[in-house]
Amino acid sequence: MTQIRPLIAGNWKMNGLTASLAEASTLAQALAAQPASARVALCPPATLITQMSRLLDESAILVGGQDCHAEPKGAFTGDISAEMLADAGATMVILGHSERRALCGESDDTVRAKALAALRGALEPIVCIGETLTDRESGRTLEVVSAQVRGSLPDALAGVAFAVAYEPVWAIGTGLTPTLEQIEEVHVAIRGLLVERFGTTGEGTPILYGGSVNAKNAADILKVAEVGGALVGGASLKCDDYIQIVRAA
Ligand code: PEP
Repeated sequence: MTQIRPLIAGNWKMNGLTASLAEASTLAQALAAQPASARVALCPPATLITQMSRLLDESAILVGGQDCHAEPKGAFTGDISAEMLADAGATMVILGHSERRALCGESDDTVRAKALAALRGALEPIVCIGETLTDRESGRTLEVVSAQVRGSLPDALAGVAFAVAYEPVWAIGTGLTPTLEQIEEVHVAIRGLLVERFGTTGEGTPILYGGSVNAKNAADILKVAEVGGALVGGASLKCDDYIQIVRAA
């Protein structure tokens, strides 16, 4: 079985001002004193990427963006390209988060184009997928998630580093989580699809779980078969909470 180094990635969403960088500094100090076995990332709002990358330059913490445009440059007011994120110091990018799928109308095709852009910009994509409560209650979870995996991941990911984040929409920011059995069922299905599509790359791709991960439930979730890390929203904003999740991996 391929050994996968877990990835714990914090999604700050639209939270954080310059003062919030103190949380990143404290995290870096804690990890310098006691290194984590997982890879650790923070994905702050775009306004903080340059400052955070400089601050964490000597640390083991990776910095990521939360989205990128599919094009490298052009007349796309308010958007940011993968190349711009990399230029600001990011090395990874979250793509297809359910908030962007729901609020910005991003389809699997859009996410796939953005994943290609991330590769062009030398960023490691973290591609998010997940079912709504209606999907789950109507027994369509595996069907929906499989379609998202097939549609959101470009063939060009074969042979390169990327991650998939399984985030049930109904678990994000709600305090609700699927049972460990439900998480395992979906992660095992995703692994099957990744191996079928990408061969050995698919065997080593971390499949993160996301949705109300916190200091209390992280250890149990991270032990589930085929869970290769976590995408953490609210609990990544404070170092005291986030470090406990990082240490649980
Ligand atoms: C997320 O935003 O990706 C997320 C998982 O949020 P939370 O941990 O707050 O549920």
